[in-house]
Amino acid sequence: GDAGVFTSGGTQSNLMGLMLARDAFYARQGHSVQQNGITGDLRKIKVLCSENAHFSVQKNMALLGHGYQSVVQVKSDEFARMDVADLKAKLAQAEANGEQILAIVATAGTTDAGAIDPLREIAGIAAERNIWVHVDAAWGGALLLSEKYRDYLDGLELVDSVTLDFHKQYFQTISCGAFLLKDERHYELMRYQAAYLNSEFDEEAGVPNLVSKSLQTTRRFDALKLWMGLEALGQKQYAAIIDHGVTLAQEVAKFVAAEPRLELVMQPQLASVLFRYRPEQLTDIAQIALFNQRIGDALLDSGRANVGVTENQGVTCLKLTLLNPTVTLEDIKVLLALVEKTANQLLNA
Ligand SMILES: *Cc1c(COP(=O)(O)O)cnc(C)c1O
Repeated sequence: GDAGVFTSGGTQSNLMGLMLARDAFYARQGHSVQQNGITGDLRKIKVLCSENAHFSVQKNMALLGHGYQSVVQVKSDEFARMDVADLKAKLAQAEANGEQILAIVATAGTTDAGAIDPLREIAGIAAERNIWVHVDAAWGGALLLSEKYRDYLDGLELVDSVTLDFHKQYFQTISCGAFLLKDERHYELMRYQAAYLNSEFDEEAGVPNLVSKSLQTTRRFDALKLWMGLEALGQKQYAAIIDHGVTLAQEVAKFVAAEPRLELVMQPQLASVLFRYRPEQLTDIAQIALFNQRIGDALLDSGRANVGVTENQGVTCLKLTLLNPTVTLEDIKVLLALVEKTANQLLNA
C-alpha cells in the first residue's frame, strides 16, 4: 500500500516504529512531541520487548530521549519467543507502578535463534489496552514471500507498524530496508512542509514526495533493486530460495543432532542453526563456551570460514546463517567437518 517507506535497514525502521508509537501515545493525551518535545515523568513511560529483541530497541529509545531505562524486557520461552504469561505479568506490574506503555515490540525472527514471537496473541493483548504494537520482522519478514512457511507470520496483519530488511533474506545488497505503517495518517506526526520540496501547491496537485514519511531527505532509489529482483525472479522463484534456507536449516539441525561431538543448541525456526562443539574432555560449560569462541576465531584466522559466534542464554555458541540459495547440505557437512578438524587441532595443540 501507500503506507510503506524504504529505509537504511532494520535499525532505522525500528526507530521510525518507536518514534511514531511514542508520538501517537503523546498525541492521544493532546500533546505534540513534534512541536513541544517530550514531557512528563519519563521514568513512568515504558516500552516492552522480549529479552531476545534486537539491541536497536534500546539504542533507539536512548536516541529518542528516553534512555535504556524505558525498555522493560519480557522473558522468553525455551525457543527464545516472548513468553505471553510474562508479558501479561509485566503489563500488570507496570499498571501497579503507575507506568504507561507506549509500545510493545514483538520480534518476528530473533537475530540468533530466528524465533517468532506469538504475534496474534500479543496483538490481542495490546488491543485490549490500546497499546501500539511494532513488529521487528527484519529477519523473519521474508516469509511473507514464502509458500511453505508464510503462516509462521500469522497475526502480522494486525499490528500498527512493521520493520522489514531486504538486505537479509530478501537477498538485496546493503542497504535496503522498509518500514510499514498500518494507518497512514500516523505519518502526520512526522510531517514537515518544505517550500522547496513538498509545497502545499505540489501536494494539492498530487506530486509524490517521500520527505514527510522518511527520516532521510535526499535518498537513493532504494526500491529499484528490490523491484528488479522481484521482476527477474518472480514470486515462485523468490519463495523457493527463501524456503530453501529454512528447510536447509532443519536438515542441518538433524545432522548436527546426530553428530556425537556437536550439540544442537535449539531447533531452528528460520534459516539459522545454533550449535556447539563439545570436546569429550571438557564438561564445564564456561570452558566449553570459551572453546567454541576459540574455534570461531581459529576458523576466521585460517581464512577458510567465518562461522558466527554468539550466545544463547549467556553461553557462547556457533551460528550458521543459511541464506545462500546455492548452498547444499553437502556443503554444510564439509564446513562442519572443518569445525571438527579445527577443534581437534586446538585440543592437540
Ligand atoms: C538485523 C536485525 C536488525 C538490524 O537491522 P540493520 O539492517 O542491521 O539495521 C534489527 N532487528 C533484527 C531482528 C535483526 O535481525
